Amino acid sequence: ARTAYAAKRPLSAALHEQALEVLGGGNTRSVIAYSPFPTSMTRGEDCRLWDLDGHEYLDLCGEYTAGLFGHSEPRIHAVLHDVLRRGINFASVGPGEERLARLLCGRFPSLERVRFTNSGTEANLMALTAARALTGRPKVMAFRGGYHGGVLTFPFAGSSPAALPLPFVMADYNDAAGAAAAAREHGAELAAIIVEPMLGSGGCIPAEPAFLAALRAVADETGALLIFDEVMTSRHAAGGMQARLGITPDMTTLGKYIAGGMSFGAFGGRADVMAQFGGKLAHAGTFNNNVLSMNAGVVAMGEIFTAEAAEALYRRGEALCARLNGLAEAAGVPLGFTGIGSMLTVHFRRPAPGRPYASTPGEEQLRELFFFDMLEAGIYLARRGMVALSLPVGEAELDRFAAAVAGFIEHRAELLR
Ligand code: PMP
Repeated sequence: ARTAYAAKRPLSAALHEQALEVLGGGNTRSVIAYSPFPTSMTRGEDCRLWDLDGHEYLDLCGEYTAGLFGHSEPRIHAVLHDVLRRGINFASVGPGEERLARLLCGRFPSLERVRFTNSGTEANLMALTAARALTGRPKVMAFRGGYHGGVLTFPFAGSSPAALPLPFVMADYNDAAGAAAAAREHGAELAAIIVEPMLGSGGCIPAEPAFLAALRAVADETGALLIFDEVMTSRHAAGGMQARLGITPDMTTLGKYIAGGMSFGAFGGRADVMAQFGGKLAHAGTFNNNVLSMNAGVVAMGEIFTAEAAEALYRRGEALCARLNGLAEAAGVPLGFTGIGSMLTVHFRRPAPGRPYASTPGEEQLRELFFFDMLEAGIYLARRGMVALSLPVGEAELDRFAAAVAGFIEHRAELLR
């Protein structure tokens, strides 16, 4: 599959060779660096993509959830053109910033106040900083298999986290008793517990509601702040997973799609936590309130991704996941999708995992084969087998994906046994 892949993409291969001469590791996003070389996409329209070698794809990667609006949403394009006409950044505050903040505080139950950053990574670093400053405590609890940004990656197995900027206490995801015990043990030093309501990079593994409720309780007990990293999961309802579950964290971090596809991050929460900014805490950043992101965000969240749109997307994803799992069950093969709403990830084991796990070499091979087979069928997914539906994806596209998965199950039956 790899050889066939390479043979059809000489221009992407050549670009990769050139990139290795000037880019450390050949690119600047580890997640899209895969062997033998990544496909270079050069054009997009709604939920379609074209690569450097001229192939067309159905885009189900959805820019790792940041591409919620697709590649050519006219209202996003219009506001960006309008902003460009007026000039780019003015070293100044602007109405777009205030309006986007108001929209977000109106939607997410935990957000009394919010501040903007350029990425989810920065949002998480700033949220942790705010929690440490408020509590006067140094440590942060995080979960194995969690991902909170390029410098906040928590491997599930093997290597311990490297080069982390803060002292961390690690616990197992979806292990309520273990997390509570660890939180109590470090209670006097624990500033925050940071958790994804669904592990995104860790394989679209949902948190059990009882696990999150236990974190809420132990945070209250120890005085640590509970931070929900909703960089990916905020799309699952107008008010994110916190609204869907009825569990309100002290702080929330956001990112990805919220600025209509422009660079984005945000962190916020209780007014008392956020009131530290403007007082004892500084948070500077040239592009924090850049006018492209702020104004695109107002249109994206105020006009396009309404509560109804979020609910419809959620239901579409749930139906897709059930449909795909039905195909695998009917065939009796160890293939299954986990996830919530419009985000799902394929696994090659049964029953579907409820916690992060270390893949076997066999599972890794199947995951790679699945990715290349989907590319061959003209469907672009995340290399790790994640799908993030975007709003332009319709029933015809879902039929096409389901047919491709059915084809994989049929043609790769031997390998799946
Ligand atoms: N948190 C989560 C849950 C994420 O999935 C990501 C990005 N994949 C981040 C934080 C980091 O966001 P960014 O890539 O914008 O820095």
